[in-house]
Amino acid sequence: MLQIMPSHAAENRPDRSIEMVKRTPVPPVDKSVPLISRVGPPSDATTQAFLDAGATSVREHRLSSEEERALARALAGLPSLHKSVLIKHLRRLSFVNAPSSLGSALTSRVEVDGGESQFDITFSSGLLSERLTEFLNRKEKNIFRADESGNQVYIHAGRSSVFTYILLHETTHVVDLVLGSSSQGFHALHEGVWKDGATSLEALYDIKPLQRILWRGGRRLPLAEAPAVYEALGMTPFVSLYAATAAGEDVAETVAWYELATHYDLDLRIEVRDKHDTLLIALEPLKSPLVRARFTAIKQLLERKIR
Ligand SMILES: [Zn+2]
Repeated sequence: MLQIMPSHAAENRPDRSIEMVKRTPVPPVDKSVPLISRVGPPSDATTQAFLDAGATSVREHRLSSEEERALARALAGLPSLHKSVLIKHLRRLSFVNAPSSLGSALTSRVEVDGGESQFDITFSSGLLSERLTEFLNRKEKNIFRADESGNQVYIHAGRSSVFTYILLHETTHVVDLVLGSSSQGFHALHEGVWKDGATSLEALYDIKPLQRILWRGGRRLPLAEAPAVYEALGMTPFVSLYAATAAGEDVAETVAWYELATHYDLDLRIEVRDKHDTLLIALEPLKSPLVRARFTAIKQLLERKIR
């Protein structure tokens, strides 16, 4: 029997984590099976989670040979820490067609009685063809509502596919959950930022416009407030607004963007413009000293060897 419990992720976040507690024994992960060979249909619990996130239907997407090659390249490009954790703990990778789902990716933990935790990661198949810039703009658009200001938010992150980013983000959730938040590298990231290692921010970064965003349980903000939101973001060590939603998302976002900046030479620029296309505020999080100060902790974390 499967029991699904919503974990740290709120319903309105674009990626979700669920915990599945399997009462019947689950065979251990076969470490000799390469990660690319662990692609399979979604579990019933995963299918249900996408339906709960608003999907009108959920069908397995079978990878074309070109998509499989792209997945193999993305898996090979993951940090070695991620690969060594995944080889022991990743049960299944799935791709689904799930129209209208609010969620685009799902990391779920299968709790094994007396054994090691196993994880399933499921991606919406649209992520295989979408560009990172397109994805980020689509995601960010959801947290604002149009108003008379005519302001618009634009995110520039180059022309690469979103898949490398999303794979880094989701697999970092697995690494975080396996190593534990109290482990050396993660603790350094949380310290002075997250009060409880979960969702409460230290007073220094608990800034009003950030408290009220949709992903922190607020409402869609009028676009007139967008300059204040990004000004507040610029005063924090968060690489993105999504990173400000919970400690787990902060870790996933910071690791993903550290890797993209370091190994893929990607840049990130956020702009808010008014109805006359006048620039109101521009932010380059990967160049922010507050963000870059955390990259040292990330580098140390990724150099860690696990047995
Ligand atoms: Zn996430």
